[in-house]
Formats: sequence, C-alpha cells, structure tokens
Amino acid sequence: MPAHFDLLIRHGTCVLPWGTEATDIGVRNGRIAALGVPADATADETIDATGLHVLPGLIDPHVHLRDPGDKAVESIPTGTKAAVLGGLAAVFDMPNTSPSITDAERLAWKQDYAERNAWCDMGLYVGGTKQNIPELAKLELGRGVCGIKIFAGSSTGDLMVEDDENLERVMRSGRRRIAYHSEDEYRLQERKHLFRSGDPYSKHMEWRDEETAFLGTRRLMALARATGRPAHILHVSTAEELDYLKDFRDIATCEVLVNHLTQVAPDCYDTLRGFGVMNPPIRGPRHLEAGWRAINDGTVDTIGSDHAPHAREKKLLPWPDCPAGLTGVQTLVPVMLNHVNAGRLSLGRMVDLMCAGPARVYGVVGKGRLAAGYDADFTLVDLRRRRRIEESWIVSPCGWTPFAGMDITGWPVATIVRGQTVMRDDEVVGSPVGRLVRFG
Ligand SMILES: [Zn+2]
Repeated sequence: MPAHFDLLIRHGTCVLPWGTEATDIGVRNGRIAALGVPADATADETIDATGLHVLPGLIDPHVHLRDPGDKAVESIPTGTKAAVLGGLAAVFDMPNTSPSITDAERLAWKQDYAERNAWCDMGLYVGGTKQNIPELAKLELGRGVCGIKIFAGSSTGDLMVEDDENLERVMRSGRRRIAYHSEDEYRLQERKHLFRSGDPYSKHMEWRDEETAFLGTRRLMALARATGRPAHILHVSTAEELDYLKDFRDIATCEVLVNHLTQVAPDCYDTLRGFGVMNPPIRGPRHLEAGWRAINDGTVDTIGSDHAPHAREKKLLPWPDCPAGLTGVQTLVPVMLNHVNAGRLSLGRMVDLMCAGPARVYGVVGKGRLAAGYDADFTLVDLRRRRRIEESWIVSPCGWTPFAGMDITGWPVATIVRGQTVMRDDEVVGSPVGRLVRFG
C-alpha cells in the first residue's frame, strides 16, 4: 500500500542542514515524517512547490508584541498575523509589556492567552528586575519560556538591572542563557545634558554612542566570565563589540538586527526622522560593514527584527520625545531575502541565522531544521518574486514600516506551522494555531 501523509510538499528545493537538495517532504501529525517520498505516496493535501525554496519555518527571536498594552498599536493576534504574512513560523516575544511579564501569575496569563490567539508558535521572555531575582531560576523553566531578558540600560519603569551587583545576582540565579539589552545606563544618564529637545534626530546616535554599547558589553562579559553564566547579547550595533565578542565564544552568543544591516546613518535620520529612531541606534557605514563581516565570518548567531511598534503620532514627535523602536516582524524575511539576492549572504546562512541559530542559542526542542521528527514548520519562498514593500501591506495596527518603498527581490509565499498552512500567497488562512515553543 502506498504511504499516506497529511501533507506532502512536492518538487521544492529544500534547504536541509547539510545542503540544498530537491526532495519531497511528507508530514504526519504536525511533524516531518519523511524527507524523500515515493512517487506513489498519497496525502490529504499536496503543495506543489515547483520553483520555490522550502526552508525550515523561520524564527524571529526578538519581537515586542505589546500585549498586554495598547491594542491600537499591536497585540499578539495582530503581531503574529504580521509574522506569518512575513514568512515567520515562530516569534520570541519580549516581556516589557504593560504590565510586564515578571512573575508566575502574569506568565501563566500570557502562556494561556498566546495559545488561544497566536497565528504562529511563540517563545516568551521573562523580564528580570531587581525585585524578582530570587524567582528567576524558577521562572526561566516555565512552559514556552525562551529565557530571561535583562535590560541593562535604557528601559522604562522597573524593568532594568543596570548595576554590577544586581547583574551578578541575576547571573547567579538560574542556569539558562540570559538575553541582554547592552547599553551602559550610567553613561547614557551622564551625557543626557549634552542634548536638547528638538535637536536633529541624528543626535540619537551621538547620545547613545559606540562607547555606550561597548562599555555595556564589556561589563556584561566580565560578569559572565566571573559567574560562568551564558549570555546572549541582543542587537549588537558596533564594530568594536563584534570584534570583542569573538574572544567570548565560550560564554556568549550574539544577535544583529536587520535594521543595522540595512539602514545607515546619517541618511536614515534625514529620510525617516523619528521613524529611524531605535535602541541601540542605527549608525554609520563602518558599523554596517562590520555587521556584514560578522554575518559572513560566523560571529553572529541570530538575526531579529526587534519589532517594537509605536503609534504614528508619537513617532512624529521631535527628538528625543519620539519613542525609540521600529516595526519589523512582517518585513524581516523579505528584507533578508533581498540581501540574499544582492549577494550579501547565502540562503543557507540566512536559514542558519533564523533557524539553527535561535535553536542553538535558546535551546529550542524540535524546530530549526528540516529533519524527520522535527516540527513541520516551513517557510516557502520565491527567490525571483519582485515586490515593493508598501505600508498598505502592514497589518500591525500602528500601520507603518521604516522599509516602505523598498524594492525587494525574494518573497515568502507560504507559511506552515506544524503542518497547518497559515499563510498562502499573501492571505492568512485557517485559524490561530500557535502554540508555545518547547525548550530543553
Ligand atoms: Zn527589543
């Protein structure tokens, strides 16, 4: 009797961990049942992927879906819809919501809410504060928790741990890799008086200069070495840090954002104004080039969008009143595919950064590669599709993107989460099937 599957993906070019091969994939019960399927096999549903590349479901390990918070800006239902339209099968969501996710009760609420409302799978960060340090060892083992997030600088409210003494206490509470926002809060405060309200938007990168980021990272690396606690430095934005981190591979992994690989100062501040303001800031061409070198020499482990929407009216305010943070969950994959087509990285490296990388850094179980037994998460892409990013395409309620008007070659055409198609040809289909990602 011929083999029968729930879903067959035929005639695609598959990006496997060991190389790119033309092969068919059979899915059963939400998992990959076969790589290489006999011609007579049958299935409930067959996708013809002729002319398409079949990637493992791409992961954005750095988003802020603002839920709970302001639904007029973003929420888990809308943000995960944006994710699947943009070709993502999973996102890891940050804890600095309103209220923030810093205790067992709020985490339980979010675990339940995410599983009823998300269109893609989700990992959840728990925020570390000076108050919840004794709880962190337990919280980091919660269902769907990808790790503890520490804002070592630049946060609002109670979500900040900026001093060495408390950072060391955090590192000594628990075992898993901690994700850090690394900017030195003391240097930020010391230099604030040098700038005034209404200064040009480009002052953002002068205030939050290279040394602010590099000093933060040097302090964190000294503490990580002393305590032996693994670190993940989020959104590394300077040539200096990327060079420095090469000597800390035993203890540290790192992320670079698509913005820091795509947008460059001073142009971004002239053209985007408040819509180019993020933390750490977009910097000059020396840092963009260093980012690409670090992508291509393997220094960088993951890339993310740091999707951090704000209301359009607020982004129109003068600097520094316009809040920092840019949308990006829906545009991450198209922009990266455009970089692949421009020859800045290979498709294999992009998949490594968006699948194997997050899996390795955060200890994801059952995702991140096309292999038998793994979750049947797929991103199907058409590398030749040309399209312009338009704001009308953005489904986040805030409604804007800093990539508006960018011409892209390479586009995601289907997103499949554990065997269920959630996006096909620009339409969200099915139902919100998202579950919590499993971590080891
Ligand atoms: Zn962020």
